[in-house]
Amino acid sequence: MKGAERFAGQRAALAGKVAKSGVKDSEVLQAIATVPRHVFIEPGLVEQAYEDSSLPIGHQQTISKPSVVARMIELLHKPKHSLGKVLEVGTGCGYQAAILSLMAKEVYSIERIRPLHDLARSKLRPFRIHNLRLIYGDGIRGLPEIAPFDSIILAAAGLGIPDPLLDQLAIGGRLIAPVSRSETEQQLLLIERLSSQRYQRTTFDAVFFVPLQSGVI
Ligand code: SAH
Repeated sequence: MKGAERFAGQRAALAGKVAKSGVKDSEVLQAIATVPRHVFIEPGLVEQAYEDSSLPIGHQQTISKPSVVARMIELLHKPKHSLGKVLEVGTGCGYQAAILSLMAKEVYSIERIRPLHDLARSKLRPFRIHNLRLIYGDGIRGLPEIAPFDSIILAAAGLGIPDPLLDQLAIGGRLIAPVSRSETEQQLLLIERLSSQRYQRTTFDAVFFVPLQSGVI
């Protein structure tokens, strides 16, 4: 991956920190060790790019914490399967989209804030990732024209999972999202679609994400 020479040692060290946090999926760890995170971060914060922390990306949004990105993708990933056709809600600067593209057949990533969509586009362009499409729009509606999706991942926390996203999940597919329990508490929720009407829900770790908001700006 282009830009990968710089900070190569730190990237491997970041994959090590993510493994220490409990992530075991070797494909996810390989992707963390491959994508140059410093490219997605504003110049003044580049020295912090390989710390396991979230960082501001402007417009009151953040680039997610690498161990949380990895944990969510690990939960989404069925053993011995590709992530298949993926929908990401909340492109932000595009870091997670680049990680997903290494493990999926196709990735569709939606962002509701125009300048962030444009930023992600410019950050990702040099990588020439052929299986990734960026869309400017409201991810709460999903992408009905492209559904069904084998995997859906939300990078922002709502009070529940929007119905259109449940409808757009393929049977046998998985969705992972942070969900707000109260003003200050969020938890990861994994949903597997068992049949057209049956969904299995499992809750995991406490997390902290920016809010899922409707409409575009
Ligand atoms: N995936 C990013 C995380 C970005 S933070 C990463 O790689 O680090 C979450 C993003 O979700 C923000 O950019 C926010 O604007 C976006 N977001 C919130 N609600 C949304 C919605 N309804 N549709 C699309 N994007 C949304």
